[in-house]
Amino acid sequence: MLKLDNVRNHEMKVVKDVPPNAVDIEKIFPGVTAPERKVLFAWGNIIYNPGDISIPAQLLAHEAVHSLQHAKRADGPDGWWYWYLKDPVFRISQELEAHRVEFEEFSEHNNRNFRKGYLKDCAKRLGGPLYGNIITWQFAKKLITMEEDCVELRKAFRFGTKGETDHDGAPGLLS
Ligand SMILES: [Zn+2]
Repeated sequence: MLKLDNVRNHEMKVVKDVPPNAVDIEKIFPGVTAPERKVLFAWGNIIYNPGDISIPAQLLAHEAVHSLQHAKRADGPDGWWYWYLKDPVFRISQELEAHRVEFEEFSEHNNRNFRKGYLKDCAKRLGGPLYGNIITWQFAKKLITMEEDCVELRKAFRFGTKGETDHDGAPGLLS
């Protein structure tokens, strides 16, 4: 799994627009690309920011994880987004990696009390409607803070020993 160290020097361009696949995203998550929803979307090395929000360091780190997830695939952001929208387990596996790095970044600059609150916010987001209500927030909280080599974590989200998931660069190899 990617860690904060892997994304520290990863530069991304920010664009005030909807992502190239906004039509496909809207089919699964209606309304989510509207500016007032203030959601960010990664596509390769670009962060699409339709709501034109100012992006805090922890969210830059989160989007950088998605950017690297796209980069390591033979089928790039196209393939990643295909599976992300089609397979909720793949989606959560990718978001879990991003949320763990997001929380790692936040934790570097904030005290214990702020970290506790932010962990709950992250867990509620990861377990909430934005990603399709796949897991409970309590379980999300556990996963965000779990040791990387924990068997439960790998089993729950089909991470292999090297952190790969079922759909890593392998379209058509659905289990
Ligand atoms: Zn994400």
